[in-house]
Amino acid sequence: MRVLLLSDIHANLQALEACLEVAPGHDIAVNLGDVVGYGGNPNEVVERVRQYCDAHVRGNHDRACSGLSDLSSFNPLAALSAFWTRRALTPESIEWLRTLPRGPVTVAGLDHVQFVHGSPSDEDEYLLAVTDGLTKLLISTVPLSFFGHTHIQGGFSLYGDAGSEIHPFLEAGNGLARNELQLLNTAKYLINPGSVGQPRDGDWRAACALYDSHTSKVTFYRVPYDLKRAQKRILEAALPSRLAARLEFGR
Ligand code: ZN
Repeated sequence: MRVLLLSDIHANLQALEACLEVAPGHDIAVNLGDVVGYGGNPNEVVERVRQYCDAHVRGNHDRACSGLSDLSSFNPLAALSAFWTRRALTPESIEWLRTLPRGPVTVAGLDHVQFVHGSPSDEDEYLLAVTDGLTKLLISTVPLSFFGHTHIQGGFSLYGDAGSEIHPFLEAGNGLARNELQLLNTAKYLINPGSVGQPRDGDWRAACALYDSHTSKVTFYRVPYDLKRAQKRILEAALPSRLAARLEFGR
Protein backbone atom coordinates (compact mmCIF):
# COMPACT_ATOMS: atom_id res chain seq x y z
CA MET A 1 0.00 0.00 0.00
CA ARG A 2 1.22 3.48 -0.87
CA VAL A 3 0.31 6.15 1.67
CA LEU A 4 0.59 9.90 1.13
CA LEU A 5 1.31 11.63 4.45
CA LEU A 6 0.13 15.20 4.97
CA SER A 7 0.62 16.99 8.29
CA ASP A 8 0.23 20.49 9.71
CA ILE A 9 -1.34 22.00 6.62
CA HIS A 10 -2.45 25.00 8.68
CA ALA A 11 -4.92 26.54 6.23
CA ASN A 12 -2.23 27.05 3.59
CA LEU A 13 -4.19 26.17 0.44
CA GLN A 14 -1.37 27.02 -1.96
CA ALA A 15 1.06 24.67 -0.20
CA LEU A 16 -1.53 21.87 -0.05
CA GLU A 17 -2.39 22.14 -3.75
CA ALA A 18 1.30 22.09 -4.69
CA CYS A 19 1.86 18.89 -2.69
CA LEU A 20 -1.17 17.16 -4.21
CA GLU A 21 -0.01 18.16 -7.67
CA VAL A 22 3.43 16.54 -7.39
CA ALA A 23 2.47 13.61 -5.15
CA PRO A 24 3.14 10.30 -6.91
CA GLY A 25 0.39 7.68 -7.18
CA HIS A 26 -0.91 6.45 -3.83
CA ASP A 27 -3.69 4.23 -2.48
CA ILE A 28 -4.65 6.39 0.47
CA ALA A 29 -3.83 9.81 1.92
CA VAL A 30 -3.58 10.40 5.68
CA ASN A 31 -3.99 13.76 7.43
CA LEU A 32 -1.86 13.88 10.59
CA GLY A 33 -3.63 16.91 12.08
CA ASP A 34 -3.62 20.71 12.28
CA VAL A 35 -5.61 21.28 9.13
CA VAL A 36 -6.32 24.87 10.24
CA GLY A 37 -4.72 27.68 12.27
CA TYR A 38 -2.13 30.29 11.11
CA GLY A 39 -3.11 30.34 7.42
CA GLY A 40 -5.69 32.38 5.56
CA ASN A 41 -7.81 29.71 3.81
CA PRO A 42 -9.28 27.52 6.58
CA ASN A 43 -12.59 26.61 4.92
CA GLU A 44 -11.05 25.83 1.55
CA VAL A 45 -8.42 23.62 3.17
CA VAL A 46 -11.00 21.82 5.33
CA GLU A 47 -13.06 21.11 2.22
CA ARG A 48 -10.06 19.82 0.25
CA VAL A 49 -8.72 17.61 3.06
CA ARG A 50 -12.15 16.27 3.82
CA GLN A 51 -12.59 15.14 0.21
CA TYR A 52 -9.04 14.04 -0.42
CA CYS A 53 -7.84 12.21 2.69
CA ASP A 54 -8.95 8.72 3.68
CA ALA A 55 -7.90 8.83 7.33
CA HIS A 56 -7.46 11.68 9.80
CA VAL A 57 -5.96 12.49 13.18
CA ARG A 58 -6.93 15.64 15.04
CA GLY A 59 -4.35 18.27 15.98
CA ASN A 60 -4.29 20.80 18.82
CA HIS A 61 -5.19 23.64 16.40
CA ASP A 62 -8.14 21.64 15.06
CA ARG A 63 -9.44 21.33 18.63
CA ALA A 64 -8.80 24.96 19.56
CA CYS A 65 -10.24 26.42 16.36
CA SER A 66 -13.42 24.35 16.62
CA GLY A 67 -13.95 25.22 20.29
CA LEU A 68 -13.14 21.75 21.67
CA SER A 69 -10.33 23.20 23.78
CA ASP A 70 -9.52 26.68 25.07
CA LEU A 71 -6.53 28.76 24.02
CA SER A 72 -4.70 28.72 27.37
CA SER A 73 -1.81 26.56 26.11
CA PHE A 74 -1.31 28.71 22.99
CA ASN A 75 1.30 31.45 22.61
CA PRO A 76 -0.13 34.90 21.72
CA LEU A 77 0.46 34.50 17.98
CA ALA A 78 -1.17 31.04 17.87
CA ALA A 79 -4.06 32.24 20.04
CA LEU A 80 -4.70 35.26 17.81
CA SER A 81 -4.81 33.13 14.68
CA ALA A 82 -7.01 30.50 16.38
CA PHE A 83 -9.40 33.26 17.42
CA TRP A 84 -9.54 34.59 13.85
CA THR A 85 -9.97 31.04 12.46
CA ARG A 86 -12.88 30.29 14.81
CA ARG A 87 -14.72 33.27 13.41
CA ALA A 88 -13.82 32.51 9.79
CA LEU A 89 -14.87 28.85 9.83
CA THR A 90 -18.32 27.90 8.55
CA PRO A 91 -20.55 25.82 10.85
CA GLU A 92 -19.95 22.83 8.54
CA SER A 93 -16.17 23.19 8.81
CA ILE A 94 -16.39 23.46 12.60
CA GLU A 95 -18.62 20.42 12.79
CA TRP A 96 -16.20 18.37 10.69
CA LEU A 97 -13.14 19.45 12.73
CA ARG A 98 -14.95 18.38 15.88
CA THR A 99 -15.42 14.85 14.56
CA LEU A 100 -11.71 14.24 13.91
CA PRO A 101 -10.39 11.34 16.02
CA ARG A 102 -7.63 11.55 18.61
CA GLY A 103 -4.55 9.54 17.66
CA PRO A 104 -3.26 6.90 17.47
CA VAL A 105 -5.29 6.02 14.39
CA THR A 106 -4.77 2.82 12.40
CA VAL A 107 -5.71 1.85 8.87
CA ALA A 108 -6.97 -1.56 7.69
CA GLY A 109 -4.21 -3.48 5.91
CA LEU A 110 -1.38 -1.68 7.72
CA ASP A 111 -1.16 -3.58 11.01
CA HIS A 112 2.35 -2.44 11.84
CA VAL A 113 1.69 1.29 11.43
CA GLN A 114 0.01 3.98 13.54
CA PHE A 115 -0.71 7.64 12.89
CA VAL A 116 -0.55 10.32 15.61
CA HIS A 117 -0.34 14.10 15.84
CA GLY A 118 2.03 14.66 18.80
CA SER A 119 3.28 11.35 20.21
CA PRO A 120 1.77 7.86 20.49
CA SER A 121 0.98 8.44 24.18
CA ASP A 122 0.02 12.14 24.16
CA GLU A 123 -1.55 13.98 21.23
CA ASP A 124 -0.11 17.32 22.41
CA GLU A 125 3.47 16.20 23.13
CA TYR A 126 6.31 17.56 20.98
CA LEU A 127 8.89 14.98 19.90
CA LEU A 128 11.82 17.31 19.26
CA ALA A 129 14.96 15.88 20.86
CA VAL A 130 16.36 12.45 20.10
CA THR A 131 15.72 11.44 23.72
CA ASP A 132 12.01 12.28 23.28
CA GLY A 133 11.80 9.96 20.29
CA LEU A 134 13.84 7.12 21.75
CA THR A 135 11.86 7.10 25.00
CA LYS A 136 8.74 6.40 22.93
CA LEU A 137 10.41 3.87 20.61
CA LEU A 138 11.80 1.81 23.49
CA ILE A 139 8.31 1.09 24.81
CA SER A 140 6.47 1.04 21.50
CA THR A 141 4.92 -2.21 20.32
CA VAL A 142 4.15 -0.66 16.91
CA PRO A 143 7.24 -0.65 14.67
CA LEU A 144 6.28 2.36 12.57
CA SER A 145 4.58 5.55 13.76
CA PHE A 146 3.98 8.64 11.68
CA PHE A 147 3.66 11.90 13.60
CA GLY A 148 3.46 15.67 13.10
CA HIS A 149 3.11 18.66 15.44
CA THR A 150 6.77 19.79 15.44
CA HIS A 151 6.74 20.94 11.79
CA ILE A 152 10.17 19.35 11.35
CA GLN A 153 10.68 16.77 8.61
CA GLY A 154 12.58 13.69 9.77
CA GLY A 155 12.24 11.63 12.92
CA PHE A 156 13.90 8.91 14.98
CA SER A 157 14.89 5.27 14.67
CA LEU A 158 15.82 2.51 17.08
CA TYR A 159 17.82 -0.49 15.88
CA GLY A 160 18.79 -2.86 18.67
CA ASP A 161 20.21 -0.54 21.31
CA ALA A 162 21.22 2.12 18.81
CA GLY A 163 18.97 5.11 18.49
CA SER A 164 19.41 7.91 16.02
CA GLU A 165 17.81 10.96 14.48
CA ILE A 166 16.58 10.86 10.90
CA HIS A 167 17.55 13.84 8.73
CA PRO A 168 16.26 13.54 5.17
CA PHE A 169 18.99 15.86 3.72
CA LEU A 170 17.06 16.99 0.68
CA GLU A 171 18.68 19.10 -1.99
CA ALA A 172 18.62 22.76 -0.89
CA GLY A 173 17.30 25.57 -3.06
CA ASN A 174 13.93 26.49 -4.47
CA GLY A 175 13.16 23.48 -6.66
CA LEU A 176 11.30 20.25 -6.05
CA ALA A 177 13.43 17.86 -3.98
CA ARG A 178 13.02 14.32 -2.71
CA ASN A 179 14.97 11.72 -0.84
CA GLU A 180 14.33 8.09 0.01
CA LEU A 181 14.74 6.30 3.31
CA GLN A 182 14.87 2.50 3.31
CA LEU A 183 13.27 1.11 6.47
CA LEU A 184 14.65 -2.05 8.10
CA ASN A 185 12.24 -4.77 9.28
CA THR A 186 14.20 -5.12 12.49
CA ALA A 187 14.12 -1.45 13.52
CA LYS A 188 11.42 0.82 14.97
CA TYR A 189 10.64 4.27 13.61
CA LEU A 190 8.91 7.53 14.40
CA ILE A 191 8.67 9.53 11.19
CA ASN A 192 7.45 13.07 10.58
CA PRO A 193 6.60 13.97 6.95
CA GLY A 194 7.13 17.65 7.84
CA SER A 195 4.61 20.47 7.69
CA VAL A 196 2.75 21.19 4.47
CA GLY A 197 1.71 24.72 5.37
CA GLN A 198 4.14 26.11 7.91
CA PRO A 199 7.54 24.38 7.94
CA ARG A 200 9.84 25.25 10.85
CA ASP A 201 12.98 23.42 9.80
CA GLY A 202 14.52 26.28 7.88
CA ASP A 203 13.20 25.28 4.45
CA TRP A 204 10.30 27.35 3.10
CA ARG A 205 9.09 24.63 0.70
CA ALA A 206 6.00 22.59 1.60
CA ALA A 207 6.85 19.21 3.12
CA CYS A 208 5.12 15.86 2.70
CA ALA A 209 6.08 12.19 2.39
CA LEU A 210 5.06 8.92 0.79
CA TYR A 211 5.26 5.55 2.55
CA ASP A 212 5.30 2.37 0.47
CA SER A 213 4.61 -0.72 2.59
CA HIS A 214 5.70 -3.13 -0.17
CA THR A 215 9.19 -1.70 -0.55
CA SER A 216 9.39 -0.43 3.07
CA LYS A 217 10.52 2.96 1.80
CA VAL A 218 9.62 6.46 2.90
CA THR A 219 10.18 9.21 0.35
CA PHE A 220 10.43 12.74 1.74
CA TYR A 221 9.45 15.66 -0.49
CA ARG A 222 10.00 19.44 -0.49
CA VAL A 223 7.67 21.20 -2.85
CA PRO A 224 7.87 24.82 -4.02
CA TYR A 225 4.51 26.60 -3.95
CA ASP A 226 2.95 30.02 -4.54
CA LEU A 227 4.34 31.58 -1.36
CA LYS A 228 3.39 35.14 -2.30
CA ARG A 229 -0.23 34.18 -2.70
CA ALA A 230 -0.34 32.40 0.67
CA GLN A 231 1.24 35.47 2.30
CA LYS A 232 -1.19 37.82 0.56
CA ARG A 233 -4.12 35.79 1.85
CA ILE A 234 -2.82 36.05 5.44
CA LEU A 235 -2.37 39.82 5.15
CA GLU A 236 -5.77 40.31 3.51
CA ALA A 237 -7.35 38.43 6.40
CA ALA A 238 -5.68 40.92 8.78
CA LEU A 239 -3.89 38.10 10.54
CA PRO A 240 -0.58 39.12 12.19
CA SER A 241 1.99 39.96 9.47
CA ARG A 242 4.56 37.81 11.27
CA LEU A 243 2.55 34.75 10.13
CA ALA A 244 3.10 35.78 6.51
CA ALA A 245 6.77 36.70 7.03
CA ARG A 246 7.76 33.42 8.72
CA LEU A 247 6.61 31.32 5.73
CA GLU A 248 9.44 32.77 3.68
CA PHE A 249 12.08 31.47 6.08
CA GLY A 250 10.50 28.20 7.10
CA ARG A 251 10.61 29.29 10.75
ZN1 ZN B 1 0.88 22.35 13.79
